[in-house]
Amino acid sequence: VNEPALSPADVILPAPPAGGFDDIGTGLTLNADVAVVGTGPGGSALARVLAEGGMSVVLLEEGPKQSRFAKNQADTCRNHMIDGGTLLARGRNFMPIAAGRGVGGGSLINSALSFRTPDAVLDGWADLLDDAGWSAAAMAPIYDEVAALIGVGITPDRVAGANNRLIVRGARALGLEGGLAPRSTPGCTGCGVCNFGCPTNGKGSANVTMLPRAVAAGARIQAEARVEAILAEGNRAVGVRGQAVHPDTHELGGTVEVRAPRVVLSAGAIGTPRLLWSTGLAPQLGPVGDGLHVHPGNAVLGLAEEVIHLWRGATQGAYFHHPDLPGVLPHSFSAPPEACLLAMNRTGNQLAQGLAELPHLAGCVVMVSDKANGRVRATPDGRVQVDYDFSDEDLDRTRRGMVEAARVMLAAGVVELFAPVHGLGRHHNLASFEAALRPRTLRDFTLYAAHPMATCRMGRDRDQSVVDTDGRAHGLPGLWIADASVFPTSLGVNPQLTVYATATRIARRMLEAG
Ligand SMILES: Cc1cc2nc3c(=O)[nH]c(=O)nc-3n(C[C@H](O)[C@H](O)[C@H](O)COP(=O)(O)OP(=O)(O)OC[C@H]3O[C@@H](n4cnc5c(N)ncnc54)[C@H](O)[C@@H]3O)c2cc1C
Ligand code: SF4
Repeated sequence: VNEPALSPADVILPAPPAGGFDDIGTGLTLNADVAVVGTGPGGSALARVLAEGGMSVVLLEEGPKQSRFAKNQADTCRNHMIDGGTLLARGRNFMPIAAGRGVGGGSLINSALSFRTPDAVLDGWADLLDDAGWSAAAMAPIYDEVAALIGVGITPDRVAGANNRLIVRGARALGLEGGLAPRSTPGCTGCGVCNFGCPTNGKGSANVTMLPRAVAAGARIQAEARVEAILAEGNRAVGVRGQAVHPDTHELGGTVEVRAPRVVLSAGAIGTPRLLWSTGLAPQLGPVGDGLHVHPGNAVLGLAEEVIHLWRGATQGAYFHHPDLPGVLPHSFSAPPEACLLAMNRTGNQLAQGLAELPHLAGCVVMVSDKANGRVRATPDGRVQVDYDFSDEDLDRTRRGMVEAARVMLAAGVVELFAPVHGLGRHHNLASFEAALRPRTLRDFTLYAAHPMATCRMGRDRDQSVVDTDGRAHGLPGLWIADASVFPTSLGVNPQLTVYATATRIARRMLEAG
């Protein structure tokens, strides 16, 4: 992967002004060419193109108007995760699903890994959609454009930290493709807390890249306003209505209405179908909320002889591929010490031992491009219900990916292996680790996912998709969707760059259509 190295000054801009709870007062009505719901990678990239193309754009965002960095999980959940970080997919096992909230959406708290979707997957989209505009060749210049705007570059060795270097060393020793990873972090100092936000503005999240550009071109952001209705007249979307929500007390305030002939939902792959189900529009639009993919994952942990300090260094800055496991992406991770102790299962009367081991803990996440899928629905009280059943094939690929991650870690000097898998135990060689992992069932695995997608898919067949290949809803003129919901398949790589690129493509087509 060769990405341009950009300096922070080329990329990072001051966060733009955004309206908040107090600005709504007893009520606010705005008029625009386009109303956009959500300010994550999808909404921000779309707004940038439309505003620079001369359209008046209003973005509405449920979360706080500014990034509220706090170096702990509880505050991050409260401020910057949808449903306070309590989202769980139900199935044969429970799986937490993480999704961001606030001006900047998921980019505020993501690890900023910025992979392009593999050519084979994009060319598959072009075939499936019968639209060459989604092919790898057609998308390449759009990827170049958005990668430059958010400052994608290979993680520099000087901020990589010991865990990333360990994964790179192990992959190299085994001759595997991989290395330090592309991330949208031009000013990264390697503090390892991307998942709480970025304390130094080193990350090119949407609030300091795409959104300032959109606002400079005339777009307006109204945050702390939850959209609850899509206004329709004569079977055409004509705007949205929402309500002010206080970012701390959750007190409800005045009504916000944006009247616009174009409504774009960029509320994310959970928020968009939730809104469509709760407004009652879903049944007329197609399979809304069906087909959820999440890139589920597990992790391999190990103790190295060297000191690692898993909480230091660029968050998730290294990866590798195994040729026999397409769609399985092992990559490094960072975690604060308290989370490491929990993952090591060294609490209670084992705490002292855990504290002794802690500096040496190394880790590698194994993420799978899932074949299984789930569904998203709204509950009557406006919360969200997510059902997801892991397939046996995905579980088998997770196990195989974990074995390869363990092999890489051993090759790099890890001397003891374990994983957040119930009953697995600790191992000093690969054969023993693999033998113990093989019989573990789904219920034993501690699953996690942060990449919901594909819940309002693009397609030509109205029975199988919600929007056409330009992002336009089949069932309601005037309505578009531009976020991770519209992917027709799972990607196999972390999605943010593809969300930015997809929304950019959709926005260009909206401009062309006038
Ligand atoms: C912890 C974590 C780590 C991640 N790491 C990476 C990574 O390293 N690399 C990568 O590529 N991807 C990563 N991702 C995933 C990536 O951030 C998402 O794929 C991406 O943000 C999706 O963009 P989106 O525009 O579709 O939606 P989102 O970013 O989810 O934005 C949707 C926005 O809409 C708002 N919203 C929802 N409903 C409403 C409503 N009714 N009214 C008003 N506003 C509403 C939400 O508050 C949110 O701000 C990570 C995600 C998380 C949570
Ligand atoms: S590792 Fe730290 S400095 Fe680097 S982008 Fe993440 S939060 Fe910012």
